[in-house]
Amino acid sequence: MDDRQFRNAMGTFATGVTVITTEVEDGVHGMTANAFMSVSLDPKLVVISIKENAKILSKIQESKTFAVNILTEEQQEVSMIFAGQIKEQREVTFDRLAGQPVVPGAMAQVTCEVSAEHMEGDHTLFIGKVTEIHLQDGNPLLFYKGRFRSLAKESKVVSKF
Ligand code: FAD
Repeated sequence: MDDRQFRNAMGTFATGVTVITTEVEDGVHGMTANAFMSVSLDPKLVVISIKENAKILSKIQESKTFAVNILTEEQQEVSMIFAGQIKEQREVTFDRLAGQPVVPGAMAQVTCEVSAEHMEGDHTLFIGKVTEIHLQDGNPLLFYKGRFRSLAKESKVVSKF
C-alpha cells in the first residue's frame, strides 16, 4: 500500500476544520488541523493529532494547554493562513477564553489542558481536558478529498437522500 492510497482513503472521511492555538513565552502559535475528535463526556476530553515536524508540537508540550477553534465557512482564509498556504505573514489578533488565545469568530472555541500525550508513528496525540467552551452561530467549514467545502453548497446533494 502506498502513501497516496492511504491519503485518498482518509480523504473520503469528511471533517470540519479547526485551528489549534497555544501560547508560550515568545507568543501565540496557531496551526490548522482536522485530526480532532471528542473522546469522553465525563470527564470532558478531546484529542488532537500533531505531526512530528510541526512547530506547534513543542509549544503545546511547553504550555501544556491548547485551544481548538472550529472554523465557519467564512474562515477558509484563516484556515489557509494557519496551514502555511498563504505565504506572506499576516497579522492575526486573538480573543481570550479562560486566559488562552482563541480565534475570533470561530463556531466553537474549546480551551484545554493537556491530560496525556501519546507518540504514535509520525504524529503525537494530545488528550485535552476541556476547561471552557464558547459557541457562536454559523455554518462549518468542511474538508473533503483534499478540498475545502461549504455545507450550504453541498446541502442540495445531501437533501436528495
Ligand atoms: P507553521 O508552519 O509555523 O505555522 C503554520 C502557519 O501559521 C504559518 O504560515 C505561520 O505564519 C502561521 N501562524 C502561526 N502562528 C501565527 C500567529 N500567531 N499569527 C499569524 N500567523 C501565524 N497537520 C497536523 O499535524 N495535524 C492535522 O490534523 C492537520 N490537519 C490539517 C487539515 C487541513 C485542512 C490542512 C489544510 C492542513 C492540516 N495539517 C495538519 C497541516 C498543517 O496545518 C501544516 O502543515 C502547518 O503549516 C504546520 O504548522 P506548524 O506548527 O509547523 O507551524
